[in-house]
Amino acid sequence: MYVDSHCHLTFDELFQRKEDVLRNMEKVSYAMIMCTNEEEFQRALIYKKEDPKRFKIAWGWHPQDVNAITEDHLIKLQKALDQHQLDCLGEIGLDYYWDSSFKERQKELLIRQLHMANQAGLPVSIHMRNATLDTLSILKQHAKTPIIFHCFSGSKETMKECLKMDSMISFAGPITFKNARKNVLCVKECPIDRILSETDSPFLTPVPFRGQKNEPMYVEYVTKKICEIKQLALETVCSQIQRNFLSLF
Ligand SMILES: [Zn+2]
Repeated sequence: MYVDSHCHLTFDELFQRKEDVLRNMEKVSYAMIMCTNEEEFQRALIYKKEDPKRFKIAWGWHPQDVNAITEDHLIKLQKALDQHQLDCLGEIGLDYYWDSSFKERQKELLIRQLHMANQAGLPVSIHMRNATLDTLSILKQHAKTPIIFHCFSGSKETMKECLKMDSMISFAGPITFKNARKNVLCVKECPIDRILSETDSPFLTPVPFRGQKNEPMYVEYVTKKICEIKQLALETVCSQIQRNFLSLF
């Protein structure tokens, strides 16, 4: 009944406990597995082979890795697209948080990958950190397919800009945190037919498990928080999020 629109099931800490993690996520009807390199992509294919209806695969070169990305990396990604092995391209985007000295290269990488997604007709999953203005202006210019704003943590004003595009706003564990005023306001204001839920596991574990390793089953707590904020029944929210997610593919 739940949807996890962004999880890293192929990271060692989750992949090594694969059977447990799968057993725990019985109530998760759909999950999108995010891949940040080729090894993870190969692992994601294993999950998908086991349950092709339930698992979607996203792969893209992350802005944080921009300095290691060569033409070869883009060719590998293109190959997966050509073989129709991906459901989404991502996560891609701009991240000026750790190091902003490679802004131009990050922008170039983002634009290249947006064009690849356009050509393949696949949605994109966007990572945007301390780079709102640049990311949005590139998306407005280059994105021609639906956009998922992953782990949205911007302001209400930023969200309004995002909603002007063909997009979904995906909320994660931070909406359950004590100091989540800004995030809560965004959930409140976001139309229900534009919302997705995610864990970004193994990171960002929601309350009441904050501090432990995150896994897809905890998307339940993100979803319940959305219900609480929007004053809607769990079933209503779950079925709407499921519709939103499936509308992308
Ligand atoms: Zn992620």
